[in-house]
Amino acid sequence: MAVYLDCAATAPVDPRVQREVMTYLGIEFGNAGSRHHGFGTRARSAVEKARVQVAAVVGATRGEIVFTSGATESNNLALLGLAEHGASTGRTHLVSTRIEHKSVLEPLQTLAGRGFEVTLVAPERGGWVHPQSILEAVREDTLLVSVMQVNNETGVIQPIGEIARLLQNHPAYLHVDAAQGFGKEIEPLRQRRIDLISISGHKIYAPKGVGALATRRRNGQRLPLTPLMHGGGQELGLRPGTLPVPLIAGLGKASELALAEHRERNAACRRFKEILLRKLRPLKPVFNGSLNRTVPQIVNLTVPGISSEEAIEAVSQVAAISNGSACTSTTDSCSHVLSAQELDEARMEGALRLSWWHRSRQPDWNGFIRAIEGIRGAEDLEDSTEVRLGQAGAA
Ligand code: PMP
Repeated sequence: MAVYLDCAATAPVDPRVQREVMTYLGIEFGNAGSRHHGFGTRARSAVEKARVQVAAVVGATRGEIVFTSGATESNNLALLGLAEHGASTGRTHLVSTRIEHKSVLEPLQTLAGRGFEVTLVAPERGGWVHPQSILEAVREDTLLVSVMQVNNETGVIQPIGEIARLLQNHPAYLHVDAAQGFGKEIEPLRQRRIDLISISGHKIYAPKGVGALATRRRNGQRLPLTPLMHGGGQELGLRPGTLPVPLIAGLGKASELALAEHRERNAACRRFKEILLRKLRPLKPVFNGSLNRTVPQIVNLTVPGISSEEAIEAVSQVAAISNGSACTSTTDSCSHVLSAQELDEARMEGALRLSWWHRSRQPDWNGFIRAIEGIRGAEDLEDSTEVRLGQAGAA
């Protein structure tokens, strides 16, 4: 069976997380909002335990964690949720980057339609955003700066620590979409200057459909967020709705395990990456994004002369890989991330993203290379047939 190498799209659920989820799906099925019986209070304590576990990863307090359905919702809540405050205080300028996930770019577009001004900073060719470019974009009326921690297509780590430091004396709120870095790259997210952090469960071996938004207090004050939905008042009124206790308990467990094991996990991913880079050398790949700035578990590369569609199909019996972003693969358009890096068309059309986790086994790399070389061979054959037919036609 093909080895799954698309963990940046979604990752397997850790068996220990699965057990936790099953407990709250099966035995402890209470509603965390029910106050009159043990079923409710036990569900409530599972949620509060998870809140502590998530908070611990980013050095926040449990009162600063709001559970959501995933990073898409967290990004929406962070960006759209600050708009009312921005509009009422005359701070209507927003700064972000051209390489953000659509769940940041689209809410920004929505805000642009509501009278906000949005500056999108371009990345360097290596796929990282220069902290100075962010600083230069910030103005007196900037409400929010939003920069992702790790790019989901290239795996390039963004210098959010440096950005936070440069913004130390600016009042703008700083939001980080940490879907790909939470529980993996721990230290950068612990900076108190980062006000809002979006978290996704299914990238850290918890189920899909759960995430969180960390909203740090500033000088003891809650951030001036307004909710996107209205209802039962759960999650400080910021995210009403009956809490999905099994999913939240799973996210809590996954966070606890990530904090305890991230060093060994990263080491295992680095070993995987070293082998992958060595094994793929015969294909002479070019890397889309500075390799020395990438996380240990994602690589984006182009094999010259081979389109990503052909390659993904050809290797499908050996490995399940993708062309970058699962979120845009239905639109068939070139990646906005790679085009922001000003890569040429052929390189973008050949982009392959391979992403793994600490438990991934190595695929049959020789089979992988044979499959891709098979495409080249077939194309060479086609070319020579065309020449022969051309000659025959001329005769
Ligand atoms: N931001 C980034 C950087 C991501 O990689 C993803 C998932 N592809 C998201 C946001 C959306 O996360 P979720 O699937 O939890 O909504």
